[in-house]
Amino acid sequence: MNLLLMGLPGAGKGTQAERISGKYDIPHISTGDMFRTAIKEGTPLGKKAKEYIDSGNLVPDEVTIGIVRERLSKDDCKKGFLLDGFPRTTAQAEALEQMLAEMERTVHFVLNIEVAREELMARLTGRRLCRDCGATYHVIFNSTNVEGICDKCSGELYQRDDDNEETVGTRLEVNINQQQPLLDFYQEKGYLCKIDGSQPIDMVFESIENILSNLSNSVVVSS
Ligand SMILES: [Zn+2]
Repeated sequence: MNLLLMGLPGAGKGTQAERISGKYDIPHISTGDMFRTAIKEGTPLGKKAKEYIDSGNLVPDEVTIGIVRERLSKDDCKKGFLLDGFPRTTAQAEALEQMLAEMERTVHFVLNIEVAREELMARLTGRRLCRDCGATYHVIFNSTNVEGICDKCSGELYQRDDDNEETVGTRLEVNINQQQPLLDFYQEKGYLCKIDGSQPIDMVFESIENILSNLSNSVVVSS
């Protein structure tokens, strides 16, 4: 089962990735992990990527795509994979299509975990820290007994600058603009599955399981 996972920051991608990878026994391949491994193992492409990163430049597509190809050729991807964070552009998506075709494989599903912008804003701006002991809370997911006061030491809570509405809003916009062409690309290919990410975590996973169970039957038949 070859899957791509998409979703904006705060949509809960990490949690679902872990569950999908566990249940279907396919590796969760995030771009960051992939680069770190290639660099650590000192592969020729890993070395190239490191040069770009060390000099503060963007890693060009040909290097990134090569690293993806190396990773997907490993034994643990025989049963399938869950790619997360790649592709980021339609050019990369085209390259992935071509690469998989050469490997006589295909993407089966692109899972996009959808959450409304207002909800993402609430999730991403909700973190609070204690000035005195550094404890972390969240106004939705992990709130204190008394608003603004630390449960552990009664210290005052504050919001980090990174978590304010303006910073988070800008980050979301950038991601939305970057993601849209990819969603269009995969919609057109017929791979795109929309998952309602506003539901509780267990229900989001159930929605994913429902989609994938339809596929597992057809994949067994076709491969
Ligand atoms: Zn405290």
